[in-house]
Amino acid sequence: MTKPPGKLLPLVAALLCGAVLAQAATPSDHSVTSAAAPVTQTPSHGLQPGTSKRGEPSSTKQAAQPSQPAVKPAVAKPPADDWNLAAHGKVLYLTFDDGPQREWTPKVLQVLRKHKAQATFFVLGIQVAQYPELLAAERAAGHHVGNHTWDHKTLTLLPDAKVRQEIATGVKSKCLRPPTGATNAKIAAIAAAYRQRQVLWDVDTKDWEKPGAAHIEHAILAGARPGAIILMHDGGGNRSQTVAALDRALTKLTKLGYTYRALPC
Ligand SMILES: [Zn+2]
Repeated sequence: MTKPPGKLLPLVAALLCGAVLAQAATPSDHSVTSAAAPVTQTPSHGLQPGTSKRGEPSSTKQAAQPSQPAVKPAVAKPPADDWNLAAHGKVLYLTFDDGPQREWTPKVLQVLRKHKAQATFFVLGIQVAQYPELLAAERAAGHHVGNHTWDHKTLTLLPDAKVRQEIATGVKSKCLRPPTGATNAKIAAIAAAYRQRQVLWDVDTKDWEKPGAAHIEHAILAGARPGAIILMHDGGGNRSQTVAALDRALTKLTKLGYTYRALPC
């Protein structure tokens, strides 16, 4: 919101801003990782615990005011763990790494649109710097964006300072997918310090090996189960096989009752 002109209304402005912030921090914002979410590892999805507490109502409390009752305790919201991915029925989480890329990202977006599918793009900072309009297109279409670092270095081989740099210069997100999936407790801790939850995958289509569209399609179909995170790529090379496989697989999976959501990144 814009501030009212002049300095006559600072209190009003503060109150209004406070109200807006408090609103923004209500539990209805389920893009926020629940503080009540289990912080134990979830091996079935290869997920590391996140420690994000962004958006907690406590961070936006206003100073106590005489006429106001005590600040309501943060609504005892149910531990609606958005990361309990298997709890939503026949939902698949399609993910695309290494983009955005000029030729293939638009084609992936087109297929997703055709099938009314939402997905998550784990982007490289260096690619985003080159194609910011494609990142905007991903977001505009309702897809979510995760951090895949700046330029795809293997984090486990880097000194801590360099790991921090790779993560910090990647896209801002609540999720980090370490390049090639290489990670360890130290990487997890550094990611957590940036309030980024590590997200790996359940199904590796190996599309980057270009094994043929039929092979990729089979990998998607064979791995499909409620809550599965499926790894594909829209960058890093010719992705014509990925695009073709995606189109065919989604046609079949939709008939089987699957829908496709973005990860809570
Ligand atoms: Zn990658």
